[in-house]
Parts: sequence; structure tokens; C-alpha cells
Amino acid sequence: MPMRNITVISGGMGGAKFIRGLLHGITHGLLPGVSPDARVTVVANTADDLWLHGLKVCPDLDTVMYTLGDGIDSARGWGRRDETWSVKEELEAYGVEPTWFGLGDRDVATHLVRTQMLEAGYPLSAVTEALCKRWQPGVRLLPMTDDRVETHVAIADPESPSGRRVMHFQEYWVRLRAAVPAEAVVFVGLENSSPAPGVLEAITEADLVIVPPSNPVVSIGTVLGVPGLRSALRATTAKVVGLSPIIGGSHVHGMANQLLTAVGVEVSASGVGLHHGARSAGGVLDGWLVDTVDADQVGALEAAGLPARAVPLLMTDDDATAAMAAAAIDMVS
Ligand code: GDP
Ligand code: CA
Repeated sequence: MPMRNITVISGGMGGAKFIRGLLHGITHGLLPGVSPDARVTVVANTADDLWLHGLKVCPDLDTVMYTLGDGIDSARGWGRRDETWSVKEELEAYGVEPTWFGLGDRDVATHLVRTQMLEAGYPLSAVTEALCKRWQPGVRLLPMTDDRVETHVAIADPESPSGRRVMHFQEYWVRLRAAVPAEAVVFVGLENSSPAPGVLEAITEADLVIVPPSNPVVSIGTVLGVPGLRSALRATTAKVVGLSPIIGGSHVHGMANQLLTAVGVEVSASGVGLHHGARSAGGVLDGWLVDTVDADQVGALEAAGLPARAVPLLMTDDDATAAMAAAAIDMVS
């Protein structure tokens, strides 16, 4: 039976890029054993979400929606193409904080629609579905939860009585550029959250679940931390396969290095694979792809019970990314 239902767990830029290549692979028949009309469901991280100037901003949902809906600024990798910044400039002229977040004029419209709907009582999952009517991303896009969850990061601050200062993850990433060490990462609200409607079904009823190259701590880690998610992954009859976001001992973009260090995980392809863990050893994965430069780590992964393979893992274009998806599918088929 060809696979018809594929579920991907995603953060923002890495996940979105992977899903675009996956869809390319499906429509061009590049994926072994996958039906050309296969449906993709995306369970996206919402722990990067923040309230800004009274608006609810969902960076990862929007990155996936804009990327797949062809509205993304592809040079930046986030936000809208042909963006202008008048709202941001006017807020700055009023001296309103925070000024470090890239709030574009076109993007503001998305946040206004979302915030209005939330305030009218719709859950985030329904709001996301409504926004996707415009963007037609070609996937079913689900937030991991409808509940408020926020990743916060603690950094050293000698001036604070506790010796630490805690800030929203977006402030650590956007304002500080993750340039100072993260001492701890806290997922506010995560343990009391519930999976959004459709999320558990998307895992239990899938033919295949993919963990793409996304941040292992603040994207994949938060989705897996929604109560019930991990056990659904452990119980599903679908194979669960992941692709390393770490190549040659470093992240490709972003701040995975800093955050992995903060949570005590080795910054390596095998470190992340073993952090998610083999399903046979209490984790969630049936297979793990590492880049060819990390081929020497395959032995250690397999010795720990996690089947692994080394293939090129740079998402240089949709064909290269589809080939990664094909290799992932092939290894667990
Ligand atoms: P974010 O929410 O925008 O940070 O995006 P994600 O969490 O989805 O993905 C970020 C992760 O993707 C980072 O850890 C990067 O190292 C990884 N990444 C980005 N581009 C590539 C690539 O071409 N290949 C691989 N293997 N990983 C990548
Ligand atoms: Ca993110």
C-alpha cells in the first residue's frame, strides 16, 4: 500500500524548507512508496509565540504558512516578501518597546486577523485554518497546542539579585542574537498544555512521521513536550524518522548549538539523535539520518539501537531536499 498520510513535526525555517522539498518530492514522484496524492499534516511549534503591541505573533506557524503559500521573503527566510516597515518605524518614534522585533506592515495584517479571531473566542487551531484559506500551503497546518506556551531563556546577569535574567526566547534570539550563553531554557505552560485538535490523530493515523531538520530544543523539543505527544509517537504504527539539524558538529543556521549546550546535549548529529532516542530504547525514532560528513557517527548510533544512515543533508534546493526525504523514507521502509 502506498503511503498517503505523512505527518511532519516542524519549527520555522528548517522545517518549512524541508516540507517544501517534501511536497516537491510527492508531486514529482521522487519518494519511494509514497502516493502522488499523499497528504501532509504539519504539527508546528508554537512555543516561540509572543504577544507584541497587543498582537499575537506566531513565528513558526507563519514561516511555514508563508513559505508553502509563496508569500515568504526567501532571502530573509521569515516574514513577507515586498515588506515595508512603517508600523515599526512609527512605534519606534513613539518610543514604544520592544523595538527589536521585525514587525512588518504586511505581517501586521496577519497578526491583526489572528488576534481579532482569538479575542472573539476562536482557538489558535481554528484561526490557523482560517489564515491558511488565503495562503493555501498545500498541507494541513496544525499548531501543537491551542494553549499558551512560551520558551524563556535564562542568561547570566550580575546586576540581578538572582544572578540571572530570564527573557522570552525571541528576545534572546532576535535582540541578543544568541551571542551570550543560555544558562537554562524554560518552557512556560508546556506541561499543562494539551495537544490541539487533530494533533494526536495526525500521529496515530499517519503512514509515516518525519522529524525534519528543526531546532531540537526549541522546536522539536517543545512539540514533543506537549503532554500526550511523545506517547502517541511511541505508540503509532507509523515509522518515525528524523534528519539531523547538526552537520559537522554545528547547526546550519540559528542557535541550536547554544541551546543544546544549555540543556546538556552534545552538539553533534549523534548527540541529537540519541537525545530524541530510539523507539526501541524509550525514545521516539525508528531511524536517523546524519550528513555524510558525520558518517563516522553511524556506528555509535546503531550500537545504541538507533538505525542510522549518512546522506547529504544540506537543503540547497527542492530537489536536494526531496532526495533527503526519499532517503529518510527508504531507510525506514
Ligand atoms: P526556526 O524555528 O526558524 O529556528 O527553524 P527550525 O527550528 O525549523 O530549524 C532550524 C534548524 O534547522 C537549525 O538547527 C539548523 O541547523 C537547521 N537547518 C537549517 N538549514 C539546514 C539544512 O540545510 N540542513 C540541515 N540538516 N539542517 C538545517
Ligand atoms: Ca522557531
